[in-house]
Amino acid sequence: MLEQAQRVLKDIFGYDSFRGRQGAIIERVASGGDALVLMPTGGGKSLCFQVPALLRDGLAVVVSPLIALMDDQVATLEELGVAAAALNSTLSAEQQRDLAVRIKRGEVKMLYLAPERLVQPRMLAFLQSLEIALFAIDEAHCVSQWGHDFRREYLQLGQLAELFPNVPRIALTATADKRTREEIVDRLHLQNAERFLSSFDRPNIFYRIVPKEQPRKQLLAFLAERRSDAGIVYCLSRKKVEEVAAFLSEQGFPALPYHAGLPNDLRAYHQKRFLNEEGLIMVATVAFGMGIDKPNVRFVAHLDLPKSLEAYYQETGRGGRDGLPADAWMAYGLQDVVMLKQMLQNSEGDERHKRLEQHKLDAMLSLCEETRCRRQALLAYFDEDMPEPCGHCDNCVDGVQTWDATEPARQALSAIFRTGQRYGVGHLVDVLLGKDNEKVRSFGHQHLSVFGVGKALSESEWRSLFRQLVARGLADVDHEGYGGLRLNDSCRPLLKGEVKLELRRDLKPQVTAKTGSKSQASQLVRGEEREQWEALRALRRKLAEEHGVPPYVIFPDSTLLEMLRSQPTSLAEMATVSGVGARKLERYGEAFLEVLGGEAEAPKVVADVRHELITLARAGMTPLQIAGQLQCSEKNVYAMLAEAIGKQQLSLEQALDLPEELMGEVQDAFLDGEGELPSVAEVAELFAGRVPEGVLYCVRAALQSEFEM
Ligand code: ADP
Ligand code: ZN
Repeated sequence: MLEQAQRVLKDIFGYDSFRGRQGAIIERVASGGDALVLMPTGGGKSLCFQVPALLRDGLAVVVSPLIALMDDQVATLEELGVAAAALNSTLSAEQQRDLAVRIKRGEVKMLYLAPERLVQPRMLAFLQSLEIALFAIDEAHCVSQWGHDFRREYLQLGQLAELFPNVPRIALTATADKRTREEIVDRLHLQNAERFLSSFDRPNIFYRIVPKEQPRKQLLAFLAERRSDAGIVYCLSRKKVEEVAAFLSEQGFPALPYHAGLPNDLRAYHQKRFLNEEGLIMVATVAFGMGIDKPNVRFVAHLDLPKSLEAYYQETGRGGRDGLPADAWMAYGLQDVVMLKQMLQNSEGDERHKRLEQHKLDAMLSLCEETRCRRQALLAYFDEDMPEPCGHCDNCVDGVQTWDATEPARQALSAIFRTGQRYGVGHLVDVLLGKDNEKVRSFGHQHLSVFGVGKALSESEWRSLFRQLVARGLADVDHEGYGGLRLNDSCRPLLKGEVKLELRRDLKPQVTAKTGSKSQASQLVRGEEREQWEALRALRRKLAEEHGVPPYVIFPDSTLLEMLRSQPTSLAEMATVSGVGARKLERYGEAFLEVLGGEAEAPKVVADVRHELITLARAGMTPLQIAGQLQCSEKNVYAMLAEAIGKQQLSLEQALDLPEELMGEVQDAFLDGEGELPSVAEVAELFAGRVPEGVLYCVRAALQSEFEM
């Protein structure tokens, strides 16, 4: 059995060996047994049911919660020459009938379905009339009512056990916790399933958490070494998402916003671009998540603190699915803690629930202030013991200095107490440093015994200390959300001098930046390889466009990288590259050999800038954002917009986002005269400093085209 599986792996998928427990899982399912598979993102779950599906007779049925995910897998399988199809609401009634006919004839090997579709009585009856190879239940944690991905329809999947007693079922998830695991077994009736638990470590991800000082600057410094890499930047609020996306675009990093407040079309469009293009940054709230199967996300940056380690693990886990180096980077500060605690206080839900959330937030905070290996701490939270420090996180690489903060901490707590337990860190630090300012005077705080006792530490050291006091639960943030600090009972032993307190010493930002560059995941390709790498990517992009699939469906980065490094010169050598199966060798082998041999001109995908511009404008981007996206000047963008308006490819409203009144005023200015439309130069003076000149060109072009009609 295993031998056959090996052959399928090599011939169809082009891989040499199974990863981790894939081999054992495939053996189990292919021989008819049930399995519960817990494997981290990128671990290679798909092969665990795809290979048995190919080894067994009949139709393999795959339950998946998201249409986007299905389409991606179906496209990938089709590229490999496997007959796969997705049955979902995007198909017309006729297409659905056609598909049913093909299935009956045995022409489909793998069928992807949404759970609600599968459990329809008609569908179940249809499947019962067929030979079924297996059921695979992907994202099985969706049965958990406690998780955030709960899908009611998943609860009904348990009946498969009774309806298809002889068909093996395999449930898969990347969610680690024990409770979810038991729920899956219980609800899906998988009591007889063999359990395959993999380590949840993601060894290719480099974790780094830095104190937040000037977050945008810090983010730019982080991105500077990652030009043309795809990544995700997570922010807490929609507003911040928009601002950061615009900021990055202005700075020459192509970035798109994504949050639940955007119109559906635009959101879908941004997601599609992120999947299909290379080197795009998605700035997003947590709404951007499930269903992002892009394997070559090279970094995940957090500008705000996630609410729990579960969320942090899941979000950072979207990086490096392809197994190549990826970065998880986060800037974190006291303000994050204040904000999240405040949100928690104000959230609905009972006390028990709040306490649970509080507990989760505390675990997240302690990872931020961790002085040992981050990976060890993260895995320990998921009950996994990692005996040695990882050597691949900031703490391991840079080392952490701690210092005895017992005395200053007592001074800080005392400052909180003496000022009446209601002031924020800014004022408390002023008091400790003995700053003689208006606020201090107006409250008479210059007379307090703690006034000026803290001059031995700098302002930023004090801020770091307060942050750590809050993170460790020694001080609390006020309920009202002004950021005022109060004492917490747990600080008593410290105040009484019964315990000592060791704190993390924050690295100075410039030091962080320096050590940062050498320790973060290095660039995938070296300078001298870049040209050929780009040529390979360009060919891949061209093929992807021709086939209407994302580039990684043609070949993942890891395969291109291996081509680059091993430089095959014949089809036989090409066949040994990991990820090049028989079908792809036949289809694409020659073309890639030509690029490698330098015979082929790298295909020029001269993205039609004008076409792109129109799409972006229709999607609601402002000229400034478009300029960032297309990496050209704003003036240029206006010129092209005016041209498109003139050709009636765009409406004025699509191109510009001007208040109605102002728009009217501009139009009047052009229309006021007799006869010919005045030139832009003639009306420009009227609007100097109020609207960019480009706007005038656009308005004039619109009027002109109307006159000509
Ligand atoms: P998951 O669903 O667990 O996140 P995937 O099934 O998408 O992971 O696999 C992640 C990547 O690893 C894919 O690009 C896949 O082709 C690749 N992969 C999986 N198994 C192997 C293997 N045995 N050898 C090489 N690459 C593999
Ligand atoms: Zn480590």
